[in-house]
Amino acid sequence: MLEFIEGELTAIKEAGLFRELKTIEKISGAKVTIAGKEYLNFCSNNYLGLAGHPKVKAKAIEAINEFGFGAGASRLICGNTTIHEKLEAKLAKFKNREAAIVFTTGYMANLGTITALVDENDTIIIDRLNHASIIDACKLSKAKLQVYPHLDMKALENILQKSGMYKKRLIVTDHVFSMDGDIAPLDQIAQLAKKYQAITMIDDAHMVGKGRGAGEGIDVVMGTLSKALGSLGGFVCGSQKLINYLRNKARSFIYTTALPMAACAAAIAALEVIEEGPERLKTLWENIKYFNAETPIIPIIIGDATKTMEIAQKIFEQGILVSAIRPPTVPKGQSRLRITISAMHSKEDLACLASLLQPLILTLEKP
Ligand SMILES: *Cc1c(COP(=O)(O)O)cnc(C)c1O
Repeated sequence: MLEFIEGELTAIKEAGLFRELKTIEKISGAKVTIAGKEYLNFCSNNYLGLAGHPKVKAKAIEAINEFGFGAGASRLICGNTTIHEKLEAKLAKFKNREAAIVFTTGYMANLGTITALVDENDTIIIDRLNHASIIDACKLSKAKLQVYPHLDMKALENILQKSGMYKKRLIVTDHVFSMDGDIAPLDQIAQLAKKYQAITMIDDAHMVGKGRGAGEGIDVVMGTLSKALGSLGGFVCGSQKLINYLRNKARSFIYTTALPMAACAAAIAALEVIEEGPERLKTLWENIKYFNAETPIIPIIIGDATKTMEIAQKIFEQGILVSAIRPPTVPKGQSRLRITISAMHSKEDLACLASLLQPLILTLEKP
């Protein structure tokens, strides 16, 4: 009965969209080893290098020694420990909110939160380039999905004006867009939401440090522990009422095993490292400025999927790992190299990447 798979796979391959895994054998700061050869890594979301920080590793090991590895049950049964609660308190404080709730991944945080907030009587209004986890959550919620062009506040207001018949209106946006590295105008979104009585939610997965502004006037702040914090897990911060509600209603919180205590301990340690000194953040921002960028995510749009893969492969052969992003992760004809900058990159690493990219960008400008 699975004959259809072969046809599907052929079609995927012919469109230049076949995906394969690369196997990392060793990680050492900004370098990874693949098939015995060392590469400079420019595609990790471990922006601050905290995944390999000695304190982060030590605290995770300490938690394993104290509690074992798996939590053994969901949070509401018997998987809730002092470490989970310490992490939630710390996240709430970090984001300057009353309370926080931790999920097992960021994907599940979006899924559980959005489906808990809206149903078929409501509408969700989203930016066209929002992350896949938001789109999946919207579909699962059964709310009417309305999409505005990327960052287009006029279009958002238009949709809001015509959405009075829905019981609730929920606006959801990436804060820093994961494939474009640009930033949503949160102040304007908050103002529009106030004017049209909508609920607002931001996905702050790509925050580094405290993120840009704590999202004043935003009701629901989602984030991940898996990127700049170098651990695993997702979270939502907001009012105590919101968090109590999500504990009771978010199905991806209720019906899954709690995050391992080691992941919580690692995230707590990562937050402490950030609080202890600004050096890593400072290095990251210096590295971002080297490329005149606004965030650690730098897209180089190529267009064609096959060509994008070829270019990424050429760069790979020169010893640098960048990601080739193709549909459906980005819209058709928008395939790109996605470069991520981290605090682990040295000035030599950045110069090495720049020297490889320069001739490439010149050829792109002359079609
Ligand atoms: C990575 C990402 C997520 C998912 O977070 P995980 O913790 O990796 O599951 C959600 N939203 C955005 C914008 C992301 O980039």
